[in-house]
Amino acid sequence: MRILRAAHLGMCFGVRDAIALAHEHADAGPLTILGDLVHNPSVLSALEAKGLAVAQDVADVNTPTVMVTAHGTSARSLAGIRALGLTVVEATCPLVTVAHRAVATLAREGYHVVIVGQRDHVEVRGLTGDLDRFDVVLDDADVLALEERPRFGVAAQTTQAVETVRHMVALIRGRFPQSEVRFIDTVCKPTKQRQSAAVAIARQADVVIVVGGRSSNNTRELVKTCARYCARVHHAQTDADVRSEWFDAAEVVGLTAGTSTPDEVIDRVEARIRLCADAAGRR
Ligand code: SF4
Repeated sequence: MRILRAAHLGMCFGVRDAIALAHEHADAGPLTILGDLVHNPSVLSALEAKGLAVAQDVADVNTPTVMVTAHGTSARSLAGIRALGLTVVEATCPLVTVAHRAVATLAREGYHVVIVGQRDHVEVRGLTGDLDRFDVVLDDADVLALEERPRFGVAAQTTQAVETVRHMVALIRGRFPQSEVRFIDTVCKPTKQRQSAAVAIARQADVVIVVGGRSSNNTRELVKTCARYCARVHHAQTDADVRSEWFDAAEVVGLTAGTSTPDEVIDRVEARIRLCADAAGRR
């Protein structure tokens, strides 16, 4: 059995930098991370072991310094945190900042902002947090529920699948032919690279394993993308999830991982795939 590792997989620079910043500040004094720094349990437990606190709500912060995650937050929310007397360390990924700028431009130029993304995702809440009116869409029903506007300005959560985003933009254009629809593509480059590399392996593989946290949006998007090209796709959070029966009669196994997945987690999954494949071969 052959294992095909995707040409681009695993942790992106935005997540790596955010984790490095968290470790740096943890050494300097007490720090609370507001929300999940990354959607990966092994990374989070390593930080907690260093004494970093994690709070989902600013009301639960008991340290003088808080860190905003790579997913970013709105200017309104930053001002609210600072008004409480807290010092803010921003680990916002520069590509999330690019998306914030795109949304601000659309709003300033009079477009009704529509974000393609998950309504409750922390990044989407950050992207929309300074807007009084906006919509968030992710499927056809969401587009059907939109009210007509003369000008729509569409941007995306950085980790959405490009195909989904383009489909949503086409639907909005089709539904509102009289409206101007301006689209700014804010899906980040690492997400695009991981998606296209995942398609390349999924086309060739009998089985694809996607490694990443269960609540990681881009990992789930990779699973969906691979499933369009390969019938046997499995999502593994760690090596413990990998089952030998997944590899029955498989000759080529594709391996990819979401942008919050550490290298060592991917390596352990790959080692486990080899063990399971051996077991499957002996059956
Ligand atoms: S997925 Fe993209 S936007 Fe998000 S942290 Fe990584 S590089 Fe930045």
